[in-house]
Amino acid sequence: MVDEKKEKEKKAKKIAPYKPGKMCPKCGSRMGEHSDRVSCGKCGYAEFKARK
Ligand SMILES: [Zn+2]
Repeated sequence: MVDEKKEKEKKAKKIAPYKPGKMCPKCGSRMGEHSDRVSCGKCGYAEFKARK
């Protein structure tokens, strides 16, 4: 027997698709997205997001 409530919860918890982030201008790899900045884990390049 399928529990409908549980099935719905599963769908709600679906992991958001990985957003294509900014590319590092130095080495070209994808940069990690943080709340206030993006940073490259490869070469260490970081770019702070502009605050409004
Ligand atoms: Zn880089």
